[in-house]
Amino acid sequence: MEILYNSTRDDKVSVTASQAILKGLADDGGLFVPNSIPKLDVSVKELSAMSYQQIAYEVMKLFLTDFTEDELKNCIEKAYDSKFDTKEIAPLVKEDGAYFLELFHGPTIAFKDMALSILPHLLITSAKKNNVKNDIVILTATSGDTGKAALAGFADVPGTKIIVFYPKNGVSPIQEKQMVTQRGDNTFVVGINGNFDDAQTGVKKMFNDKELAKKLDDRGYQFSSANSINIGRLVPQIVYYVYSYAKLVADGQIKDGDSINVVVPTGNFGNILAAYYAKNMGININKLICASNENKVLFDFFGTGVYDRNRDFILTSSPSMDILISSNLERLIYRIAGNDADANKELMNALSKEGKYEITDSMKKELADFVGGFCDEAKTAATIKDLYSKTGYVIDTHTAVAAGVYKDYVAKTSDNTPTVIASTASPFKFTRSVMEAVDGKYASMTDFELIDELASIAKRDVPQAIEDIRSAPVRHDTVCDVDKMQEVVENILK
Ligand SMILES: *Cc1c(COP(=O)(O)O)cnc(C)c1O
Repeated sequence: MEILYNSTRDDKVSVTASQAILKGLADDGGLFVPNSIPKLDVSVKELSAMSYQQIAYEVMKLFLTDFTEDELKNCIEKAYDSKFDTKEIAPLVKEDGAYFLELFHGPTIAFKDMALSILPHLLITSAKKNNVKNDIVILTATSGDTGKAALAGFADVPGTKIIVFYPKNGVSPIQEKQMVTQRGDNTFVVGINGNFDDAQTGVKKMFNDKELAKKLDDRGYQFSSANSINIGRLVPQIVYYVYSYAKLVADGQIKDGDSINVVVPTGNFGNILAAYYAKNMGININKLICASNENKVLFDFFGTGVYDRNRDFILTSSPSMDILISSNLERLIYRIAGNDADANKELMNALSKEGKYEITDSMKKELADFVGGFCDEAKTAATIKDLYSKTGYVIDTHTAVAAGVYKDYVAKTSDNTPTVIASTASPFKFTRSVMEAVDGKYASMTDFELIDELASIAKRDVPQAIEDIRSAPVRHDTVCDVDKMQEVVENILK
């Protein structure tokens, strides 16, 4: 069955999967959503005998229906290869009564690699299918993590270039080192004398500049975005929920048909939405437990039906979840409104005008599968320490938010359904917070001393991504003023 994509703000918009991937966002500002959620057409028994790559094909073929089998398999093969440090791609590790789904074995040791390693291939395939002759130029502003994951994904992908702007004094030393050592002749990293908002504003301006678009078109280039609302990032994330269920069955941990719960440390709501889609495809997921840090807009939303971003932004030890507007939630709102674009649009307008909206009672009923929870800073640290003391297993701060929320959930409900916790980053990515949670005595050590200490207490090798930044040469040293961003881009794209 062919799946087409509508905008969450206009039902009349209907595009193919490849067009939705190329465009990223609909012209009306809405997000692309599949016009129905396809059911898996292979059994769990069959899935449980498959590799990650094979399951990826079975899931993605149902959503990306205008891709041929060869095209899709080719994308999957190029994405999930030896860039990952384990053949399993996303291993499940059982500790303290829960299954940690380790989504951090890719090139930047965090879960965004799961989607950003395949997006470039989906994008160039989409460009070919739609007779786009230009090279695709990914233009991104980053506050740290997404930039690196996108650079790693696009490095040396033929037919693409990637230009990343970051605030010169606004990212951590490790994040900066990760970006400026990026390999690949098609990668460009530029520091700006300004903050993240300046970088983002500058990038948006270039995206909307028709004259610039014309100029670049003459030179054989066009812009695209690797933004987290691209359907080409969402669909690959459904795969690992299907994979983890099949793996639990294959390993005899559950029987085919048993239900599981999933707990997802949430920021922009992409990861947990993928779990919801997996459930709708037929995977027997019971509760979707949405874990927030102290920026608990979503916890409040699931409790009250009111989404309210009017509050202080709190900097936490799980920075990738420090978000007050969860963009992907719009896809769920649209759906629980009965796929009603007008109703959704009204709520989103209220969000941009007043910073809040309230859903109706009948919409609230549609949220019965979701449970919201949150974990404060003290409990996040205590969760890391307790799990380590009990089992020797070390988790990062984001995963700890989820594990902490799960503990509360079990205490409150006595629900003993087998549970998968999405483990979204390697502890090596947030070494200082993790080690200080384990023991205060680590506070005086340097970052690299802490890395070796973590390897020793966790009995894990230091990931290649970390070794790289110790030794790799700096390849990017361009720094510019905010008003020179466009000039820099035009020079790169001569
Ligand atoms: C991006 C990110 C999250 C949040 O995921 P969403 O899909 O935005 O909800 C959680 N943990 C880590 C480590 C991340 O990088």
